[in-house]
Amino acid sequence: MNPETEPREIELDGPTAPLRILWEDGHESEYDLEVLRRICPCAVCSAQGGRSGVPQDPAPLPPGATEIKSIHETGHYALHITWRDGHDTGYYSFSHLRLHCPCRECRPRMDV
Ligand SMILES: [Zn+2]
Ligand SMILES: [Zn+2]
Repeated sequence: MNPETEPREIELDGPTAPLRILWEDGHESEYDLEVLRRICPCAVCSAQGGRSGVPQDPAPLPPGATEIKSIHETGHYALHITWRDGHDTGYYSFSHLRLHCPCRECRPRMDV
């Protein structure tokens, strides 16, 4: 297993709190739920964006789209997230999540 994509701890304090993942390599990621929704890897959401699944010009999200209804770990490789607006086709693999870590270290360009 790659420690960079192996979660040690997954933390969600409430339906609108950011999702926090502590990785086996000691790195910590914090995903604002709007960010998390926008990186949804499902076919529907990816179709709206580019290769990365992130829309170039993001459309407004429906009400409830940034609230988590339930979250389950599936098969130790992904998180299945059901959103308050009923969207439930997103399986967030840990490698996808780590790739989209929004922290300064991973995303220096977002600081600009
Ligand atoms: Zn989706
Ligand atoms: Zn990071």
